Amino acid sequence: MGFDGPFTMTIGGRAVAGDATFDVVNPATEAVIGAAPDATRAQLDNAVAAARAAFPGWAATPIAERRALIDRLGDAVMAEIDGFKRLLTAEQGKPHADAQNEIGGAALWLKGAATLDLPVTVNEDSADRYSETRHVPIGVVGAIAPWNFPIVLAMFKVGPALLAGNTMVLKPSPFTPLTTLKFGELAATILPPGVLNVISGGDALGPWLTEHPGIDKVSFTGSTATGRRVMQSASATLKRVTLELGGNDPAIVLPDADVAAVAEKLFWAAFANNGQICIATKRMYVHEDIYEPLKEALVAYAATVKVGDGSEQGTRLGPINNRPQYERVLDLIRDAKERGYTFLTGGEASGTPGYFVPVTIIDNPPEDSRIVQEEQFGPVLPLLKFRDVEDAIARANASDYGLGASVWGSDEDAAFAVAERIASGTVWVNETQHLTPLAAFGGVKQSGVGVEGGVEGLLEYTNVKTLVRRRQ
Ligand code: NAD
Repeated sequence: MGFDGPFTMTIGGRAVAGDATFDVVNPATEAVIGAAPDATRAQLDNAVAAARAAFPGWAATPIAERRALIDRLGDAVMAEIDGFKRLLTAEQGKPHADAQNEIGGAALWLKGAATLDLPVTVNEDSADRYSETRHVPIGVVGAIAPWNFPIVLAMFKVGPALLAGNTMVLKPSPFTPLTTLKFGELAATILPPGVLNVISGGDALGPWLTEHPGIDKVSFTGSTATGRRVMQSASATLKRVTLELGGNDPAIVLPDADVAAVAEKLFWAAFANNGQICIATKRMYVHEDIYEPLKEALVAYAATVKVGDGSEQGTRLGPINNRPQYERVLDLIRDAKERGYTFLTGGEASGTPGYFVPVTIIDNPPEDSRIVQEEQFGPVLPLLKFRDVEDAIARANASDYGLGASVWGSDEDAAFAVAERIASGTVWVNETQHLTPLAAFGGVKQSGVGVEGGVEGLLEYTNVKTLVRRRQ
C-alpha cells in the first residue's frame, strides 16, 4: 500500500476525505508532511452509526473468527512495516529503529491479544439450577490515543476491544494522525465494514466523542488532566471508562547495584523516546554510596548518544514530538536554571529548526522542585541522592501518580522487597518498561482507572452477564 497522501478517514469500510484538513508537521524539520482530515460532527455521527450498525453482526461472529481476523491484521501490519515505520518517524520524530520497534510491537499486540480467551464462570450446576457468568461485549468503543506511541498504544485497545466483540471509533492525536489513518485503510481490507472506524480531527473531536450518546465505552490514553475531562464527559451517559494516564515513575538504585552493569539501562529507562513515555523513569533516586560513579557513567554515556533527525543513520534520539510539549520541557529547564540547580549535561536547546532538546541531567535538585514533582515527558532527568532506603521509598510514594516504578540492586530479593512497597500499577526489578499483551498494565492513584493487557484488560471491554436457569 502507499504511504503518501491523500490521507483519508475510514468510516463504514470506506475512505472518507475531510471537508477541511489540518497540517501535520515533521518535528525534526517543522516542514508540513501531510494534511489530515478534520472530521465534522456529522462525520463523527456517521462513524458512530457505522460502528453501531456493525456491532450486532460482529458480536455474533464466533470468537474464533474474530481471533483469526485480528491475527491476520497483525500480519498485515508486519508486512507493511517499512512504510509504516517511515511515516511514523516523519510525524512522530522517533528514529527509524524505534519506529520499527513500535510497528513490530503493534503487530505483536494484535496477535498477542488474539490469543486471549473470555472466561466463563459456572456459579452453580445443581439439580435445581444452572448459573453461569459470561463476559459479553459492551457495544461501541470510542478509543483515544496520544502522540508518543501513536500506533502501539492504539493497538493496546483495538486487539482486545474487537476480540471481545465490540466495534470501535478510533481517534489518534492531531499531532500524529497519519500512521493511524493508514492503519485504518489497511484494516478496512480485512475487517467487516464498520467494525473499526478511524477519524481524525482537531481539539473539538475528543470531547465530541466522549460525550456522544452512541458510544458505550471510552478507552483513553493521555494525560491525567485530559483524563479527568474524559471521565466527567463520559459520566453524562454513564459510559464505561478505561483511563491510562500520566506517570512520574521513580527508579530506586540501591547501594549494591553494579554501576557498570546498570548505567546504560538506567540511561535508556529515562531517555528512550526522549523521555516521552508514560513509564519513563522520571525521578532517579540513587544511594549516596554509588551516586558519584553512577552520575559520571550516565553523563559519559549521554555524550555518546546522537540526537538528530530520526530518519538519519545513527540517530538515537529524535526531537520532541510537538511545539507545545517542546515549550513545556524548555519551561522546566528554565525554571531549574533560575533556581540555580546544577546541570550535569544538556540544558541548552539548539535553536535550529526542529523541536530538539539535548539530553539533560540535573544534579540532586530539591525534592519539591518542579522537575521532581511534575511529569516532564521530555529528556530532562533529576538525579536524586538518598542515604536511607526508607526515605527513598517514602519519596517515591509521595506522588499523586502511580503508574510504574523500578528498583535496581544486586540482591534481587532485597530489591524485590522494596518493589513490593512501591504504590504503582507495575514495579520492575532490574529492568523497566517491559510490557506484554498477556499481562495487565495500568495506573493507580491519578495515573489511571482500569488496566490494559492480559485477561484483566480484555474484560474491561465486556459487561458481566449472569444467566440463571431454574431446572424443572
Ligand atoms: P493528551 O491528554 O493531551 O491527549 C491525548 C489524546 O486525547 C489526544 O488524542 C487528544 O487529541 C485527546 N484529547 C485532548 N483533549 C481531549 C478532551 N477534552 N476529551 C477527549 N479527548 C481529548 O495527552 P498527550 O499529550 O497526547 O500524551 C501525553 C500524556 O499521555 C502523558 O501524560 C503520558 O504520561 C500519557 N500517557 C499515558 C500512557 C499510559 O498507558 N498510562 C501511555 C502513553 C502516554
